[in-house]
Amino acid sequence: MKIVQRTGPLSLLYAFMDAARWRPAADGATPRRERSIRIYVLETGGCEGCFMEIESLNGSAFALEQAGFVWVSDPADADWLLLTGAVTRVCAEMIDRAWRAMPPGKSLIAVGACAVDGGPFPASYATLGGLQALTPVRRSIPGCPPSPDDILRALQELAQL
Ligand code: SF4
Repeated sequence: MKIVQRTGPLSLLYAFMDAARWRPAADGATPRRERSIRIYVLETGGCEGCFMEIESLNGSAFALEQAGFVWVSDPADADWLLLTGAVTRVCAEMIDRAWRAMPPGKSLIAVGACAVDGGPFPASYATLGGLQALTPVRRSIPGCPPSPDDILRALQELAQL
């Protein structure tokens, strides 16, 4: 394969076009929905590793919207709540507030070992551990951190349930 190095004022545009060319295609098995699934992401007591992997799904390397998902900045607009990090005692109320603000039909998804069972941050004076022991979770995406591909694949599988 011949790789062409482009420079000059349009190099950024070319870089974007290249990223679009190499991004993984959305899974063809994903059913067409009338509208995208709206996702609100909350980072609580982790190292931000999982949060950064989720954020990278927003980049041009992933066809997130083509796969039927869109990030929202208000839980009141969200169908799914993606949580990363252990449930710290300080953040527990914030999680509860976000959850109660979401419209009916909502789902809670734990992303990463911390959110699932506390990972390296088990229950202590500072944290309640992971979501698994606290509340029903629709789906857990394990890993420390899970890759963006793993996260996107899990979201697509969940969308088909
Ligand atoms: S699961 Fe690992 S990468 Fe994710 S927030 Fe916890 S320590 Fe960080």
